[in-house]
Amino acid sequence: MSTSVDAFMAQVVAKNPNEPEFHQAVREVVESVAPVIDAVPAYRKAKILERMVEPERVISFRVPWVDDRGEVLVNRGYRIEMNSAIGPYKGGLRFHPSVNLGVLKFLAFEQVFKNSLTTLPMGGGKGGSDFDPKGKSDNEVMRFCQAFMSELFRHIGAHTDVPAGDIGVGGREIGFLFGQYKKLRNEFTGVLTGKGLGWGGSLIRPEATGYGATYFAEEMLSRRGESLRGKRVCVSGSGNVAQYTVEKVTQLGGKCITLSDSQGTVVDEDGIDAEKLAFVLDLKNVQRGRIAEYARKYPRARFMEGKRPWSVPCDAAFPSATQNEIGVEDARTLVKNGCSCVSEGANMPTLPEGVDVFLAAKILYGPGKAANAGGVATSGLEMSQNAGHAHWPREEVDQRLHQIMRAIHATCVEHGKEGDFVNYVKGANVGGFLKVAGAMLDQGVV
Ligand code: NAP
Repeated sequence: MSTSVDAFMAQVVAKNPNEPEFHQAVREVVESVAPVIDAVPAYRKAKILERMVEPERVISFRVPWVDDRGEVLVNRGYRIEMNSAIGPYKGGLRFHPSVNLGVLKFLAFEQVFKNSLTTLPMGGGKGGSDFDPKGKSDNEVMRFCQAFMSELFRHIGAHTDVPAGDIGVGGREIGFLFGQYKKLRNEFTGVLTGKGLGWGGSLIRPEATGYGATYFAEEMLSRRGESLRGKRVCVSGSGNVAQYTVEKVTQLGGKCITLSDSQGTVVDEDGIDAEKLAFVLDLKNVQRGRIAEYARKYPRARFMEGKRPWSVPCDAAFPSATQNEIGVEDARTLVKNGCSCVSEGANMPTLPEGVDVFLAAKILYGPGKAANAGGVATSGLEMSQNAGHAHWPREEVDQRLHQIMRAIHATCVEHGKEGDFVNYVKGANVGGFLKVAGAMLDQGVV
């Protein structure tokens, strides 16, 4: 390959037009690994990077379904099978109106490096649909999931491709998807993760991404002799990742003061304690309401309509909503207000210029592919339990998750050390790359 990053990116952009998120994700990795590729001729000769940016397979399909009024609706479904060098494709399904090919390719690409970092044998994939579960009845969501799986089932399997949840796909959706897969295949296998506890799911899987991002922050802080105890913490989002980030940060003595959704941010200077979090879990997971209702329930909190949390002064930030939710000005504001630790629960939540601000300020910045890898890691543990017909106790899964987050942190430090400073972006990209590249070399040109 030409190791000139710009030349390489020009080819990627020309070959994958109108996919800005994919270009953004690829550029970040290429910038980190270019020196490694320059140093190892075998990588260049085998065109490892050129192969990594090309999905092994892209599946796109029609999803026709019928709503409660009898109207026929048509959505588009996708599965991107990005890289299977180190294990079966693994990665979530996202149901959100913003889903398109470029968004899923960025997520699948990130997933390859993230899964490699977990130490577990999982390749990378991602999928989803432009279907919006908001405002739909349970029956409509069920019919959509069944229609989606009626095509997807041909392409996945416990040893081939194992999807999980992501934005818009939680326990309810995984249940409907699993039910339809089982009916079509007439077999009960661990083809999806995030399953219910009574039918093959793992304890700690719902908590894993948020807990993992918190453990990762603790690891970063401990290198500076600090911890989350007593820290003011801003969390964005109010879904799965945000909820369990708040739970773990609070357990470790931090004070979470914000949550958000696409309509705005609630700020609670008193802190979101266990009782208030229970309200949020019911509001979001059962009532499927808006986070603004938090401020009505707890009048000492305020709601900032249409705003993100980043203007609220904090010591640590956990972006846990979606991609590109921290712009360059948000990053500057966070640093100016004294934020010294950012641990990304979401995938690629910070724009590249924002990442530059964090790196220049030398704050502790844990990129998503390292910091939020606890979710997929625990999915890997769910697969192990399914394969061994086992069900591990809560403490055991949590302990393994904690151990994996420590290992990911150590890999980032090993490959990202720049004097006293750790560039976790470089560390995660290089650490994730090496294992996949080695496997691709071993397996020949396939
Ligand atoms: P979720 O339960 O569906 O929650 C998503 C949250 O983000 C909601 O509060 C949602 O608000 C908000 N949000 C979504 N799109 C938004 C947008 N365009 N603008 C503003 N807010 C938006 O999803 P999740 O599983 O917590 O996932 C959150 C992030 O973590 C995603 O980046 C996902 O890829 C990443 N992640 C998840 C896992 C996992 O195990 N679930 C693992 C690794 C990484 P609304 O309700 O208003 O849309």
